[in-house]
Formats: sequence, C-alpha cells, structure tokens
Amino acid sequence: MTTSDDTGFSTRQVHAGSATAPATPRATPIYLTAGFTFSDLDESAAHFGTGAGFGYSRTGNPTVHAVEERLASLEGGDQAVLVSSGQAAVTVALLALAGAGDHIVVSEHIYEGTRGLLLDNLARLGIDTTFVDVSDHDAVRSAITPRTKALFAETLSNARNDVLDVAAIAAIGAERGGIPLVVDSTFTTPYLLRPLEHGAAIVVHSASKFLAGQGAVLGGVIVDDGRFDAAASGHLFPHLVQTDRLGGASFAEKHGRRARGAYIRESVAPRFGPSPSPLNAFLIGQGIETLSLRVERQSQNALAVATWLEQRPEVERVDYVGLPSHPHHDLGERYLRRGSGSVFTVTLRGGLEAARHVVQSVRLITHMTHLGDVRSLVLHPQSTSHAARSVAERERAGVFPGTIRLSIGIEDIDDILADLDQALVGVPVAERETVVL
Ligand SMILES: *Cc1c(COP(=O)(O)O)cnc(C)c1O
Repeated sequence: MTTSDDTGFSTRQVHAGSATAPATPRATPIYLTAGFTFSDLDESAAHFGTGAGFGYSRTGNPTVHAVEERLASLEGGDQAVLVSSGQAAVTVALLALAGAGDHIVVSEHIYEGTRGLLLDNLARLGIDTTFVDVSDHDAVRSAITPRTKALFAETLSNARNDVLDVAAIAAIGAERGGIPLVVDSTFTTPYLLRPLEHGAAIVVHSASKFLAGQGAVLGGVIVDDGRFDAAASGHLFPHLVQTDRLGGASFAEKHGRRARGAYIRESVAPRFGPSPSPLNAFLIGQGIETLSLRVERQSQNALAVATWLEQRPEVERVDYVGLPSHPHHDLGERYLRRGSGSVFTVTLRGGLEAARHVVQSVRLITHMTHLGDVRSLVLHPQSTSHAARSVAERERAGVFPGTIRLSIGIEDIDDILADLDQALVGVPVAERETVVL
C-alpha cells in the first residue's frame, strides 16, 4: 500500500510506514501480529487447504513456531505446540485423547490445578478419572478399564518428590493396547529428563516455570512423540483414524504416525483457543537459551540447601530426591543424571507456627506461589496449594502443618543459606511434631 500525501488522515494512520525493508535479525523477531498477508489467491488457498505457511496467529506464528521447534528438539519429540499456560497444555493434551465416556488414570500426587481440571471441568464433560499411587504399578494396572484413554503423571511429585518410573508406567500403557502416557515434566525440564526417550507419548510443561525461568510470563507446551500407531491403538482413538468429522481423510491417513500431534496442533489447540502471545513466546524462547545453565546451578544449590537443612535441629524431614535418605533416591539416580531439580519440601518440627515464622522471616527468598524461577521462593503448602485436601491426603503427599516448599534459585549458595539461617532463629527445636491442625 502506498500512502502518498493524497490519501486521507485515517488511511495514513493505519497504512503509513507499514512496508518495512527486508532484514535478517539475529534474535528471533517478535511477530506481534494477528495475521499474515497472502501474496496471491493461490497462496491463501494453499494455506487454507494444507496449512502451508502462516495465515493467522491462532493457527501459527513464526515467533511461536521457533520456540516450538526448539522445545521439540530438546525433548527429543516430533512436534511441539505452544499454548498460553501450563494449565492449557494439560487441558489440550487430555482433550486430544479423551472425550465423553472416556477415562484417565492419574497419579494422586499432581498439581492442584490439574486435579481440579479432572475432578470438576473434565468430569462435567463426561471424562472420568481414577487417582492412584503411581509408584504402585499393580494399582496402575488395575485402575485401567476398556475406556481408559490416557495415563497421566508428573515426573517429580509435589510435595513428596517421588520420581515417576516413566519406562515402567509407559510399558503398562503399551501392554494394554497402546494407552499413551502423558507426563507433566515441569519440575524436571528436558535438561534433567526427557520422558519421550523412556516411552512416554506426550510431554507437557508449564513453561511459566523453569523454561521461561525469569518469572515474567505464563506459557505451556505439549510435545508429541510422533509415534502414533493406528494399527495398535486406533481402536482407542476413533477421532484419529475415522473420517474427519468436517469431511475428508482421517488424521491417520493424512499424517501417519504424526496423527496425534497434528490433531493437537490443527484441531484441539486452535479451536479451544489458548493461543500464546508472540511476545510471551519470545520471552520463553529467550529463557530456554539459558535452561541448562540455570537448572544445573539450581540443582547444585538445592542439593546444598537440602543437605544443610537435613542437619538442622529445627528440621523433622527433608523430601528431596537428591538426598540419599529419600526413598526414591536410586530411581532418581537412574532418571535424573544431571541433577534433581530445585523444588522440594522441608518439614519443621515446630509445626504451623514454625512454618509461619520462616515464610514471614525470609528476606532474600521470596514468599510466593511460583517455582522454577531464578529467584529462590518459599510457600506453605498446607494453607495454600494443598488447602483443599483432607488431612489424610496431605499426609500421603508429604504435606504437614510444618511443611514449607522451597524452589531454589541461582543466587550464591552462601546467601541462600544465610537467609535460611536467620529465618530459623527463634524456631522451636521441639521434639517430633504430632500432626494436628
Ligand atoms: C505451574 C504448574 C502447572 C500449571 O501451569 P501454569 O503455567 O501455571 O498454568 C501445571 N503443572 C505443574 C507441575 C506446575 O508446576
């Protein structure tokens, strides 16, 4: 569009200066645009027909796509779909597999938002859930029914820091006709663990946490392994193998082993619509560039903090899988060779009042609900993330009145320890806490 002086003011306010000279930026540019121009009719027709190129940012955007490619590569997956939050990633992944009348087997130790999604929102759509302790493999096996369309668990549980035996659970799904294992890998990131390499079918993350790292934006990602086997598990997923409801060939016919990933990308994510902002995608992409450095440092710091806390007289227990005292330490050594992450809980002998004292006394460490940040953070799970659970459920999850959750950052270790040291001043060194509310 030329914007010569003889066009009107209103025309020029939207068109003047819009033609930019081609340039080759080093950083991924932020394509903050709702859509993309077509050069001719054939190009627009091709886009609508086959999805070639970029048309509208809800279905594809170059900034978003760059981050998707990077995450697919880091996870060892086939394709990734970036969405607006971790909750959106879990929702999209599960809605790509299950519908009304279907069933999902889920770890009892999962993020509270996911638990609510399953118990309330997906239940209202007719998708049922059975919660099991996924470290009990027989319990997983016996929870599976002919309607089960997915197994779902987190790589490291909050709060007990249990390690998911990805290969064993994936194998149970495979035995039962190719039920895919969906893994929320937020706590471990692809730097520590790549579940697809151990047989999981789909990995999801809250990119708001370690992937972005700076704690500035929300995001989520779904990574599919590209190993959909229509012959083995097509009977479970008629929406992938039968004629497209909108007409035409099935996803399996069009995309082969990529059918499930294509369905996530072309059907579920753009229609339910949790599209990420290209600006947020850019910030997540920037964060990922330092992921290995941060997670390595955070894991080292967390191990040092956990080791230090375990020796303290105020402390009843530390649930950090990096410690030899943790019941899953050996499993952790097998799956988490580069470190054990930086999120764990510590239970103080002095109960609720001791926990209150610490979260209110820290100075360097921030009291907030978030994790995976470059800053160290603390939260009291009993009164926040786990407040809706029964006492028995909380105890099974390792949440007691004196439990605090730490997410250790990249600060200098001496400064983190000094802050905890001063926050523990005045905390009772009482004998074992009896569990009362
Ligand atoms: C934070 C979190 C989520 C939800 O992610 P949001 O980005 O906050 O929507 C899901 N799973 C786990 C394990 C999380 O920590």
